Amino acid sequence: MKPKIAIYDFTDCEGCQVKLIELKEKLLVLEKRVDIVNWRLGQENNKPGPFDICIIEGTPITQHEIDLLKELREQSNILIGLGSCATLGGISGIMDKSERKKWYKKIYGESYKPRGIDALPLSSYVKVNFLIHGCPVNGDELVRILSDLLAGKEPKYREYSVCFECKQANNECRLINGKPCLGPITQGGCGAICIQGGSPCYGCFGLREESEKENLVKVLEKITDKKTINRYFSMFLNKVNK
Ligand code: SF4
Ligand code: SF4
Ligand code: SF4
Repeated sequence: MKPKIAIYDFTDCEGCQVKLIELKEKLLVLEKRVDIVNWRLGQENNKPGPFDICIIEGTPITQHEIDLLKELREQSNILIGLGSCATLGGISGIMDKSERKKWYKKIYGESYKPRGIDALPLSSYVKVNFLIHGCPVNGDELVRILSDLLAGKEPKYREYSVCFECKQANNECRLINGKPCLGPITQGGCGAICIQGGSPCYGCFGLREESEKENLVKVLEKITDKKTINRYFSMFLNKVNK
């Protein structure tokens, strides 16, 4: 019997599922080892649980989504968060409540009654067995983690920071040049892709184990103002649990 897999999504941009589809041949190899019984984005015929592994992208921001998440938890042996929306609250969680109210009115009109609540990580509502971080997730990391799960192994989080991968890629350090970056406290696994492209690390892979956040803040305070530091942390690391 092949393991039964389900892939669900809540509120998000679906970019992490696109990364899954982008795996192409690697996904087909994985598919031969599993029975994907429910995947709204990837197939037409879907079946209800129970599931051996349920992978969830996005964050629940309505009561209906929260109820469904709790149902999926009960029906699934292993529950995995896919992407920073699911693991950290992600992009949907950046805006604070008062700003959100203002924008709802501006976009949908004064009479619109918003149903959405704060975007929080899945782990705020249910037990999550493993978090696949990234906005979007990294394809190679997906294959590594899914292969471990299918082999019956518990996948491991990367023990090094984005800085390690940044050094391997021979990038000049932004901090040394007086530019903010959250690489030192962020879990590796992305290949320092943002720094390669000339941008800072905003921490979408989540805090690494034993990260020294206070020390990094002291360094950042020497090169920029408090507002900028808060903006950096508000991207992904303000609701962190792993
Ligand atoms: S983590 Fe990023 S890429 Fe993935 S679904 Fe959320 S917003 Fe989209
Ligand atoms: S640029 Fe950022 S990720 Fe790269 S070494 Fe410096 S602090 Fe670390
Ligand atoms: S460099 Fe930082 S923000 Fe960019 S993908 Fe990696 S962890 Fe995410």
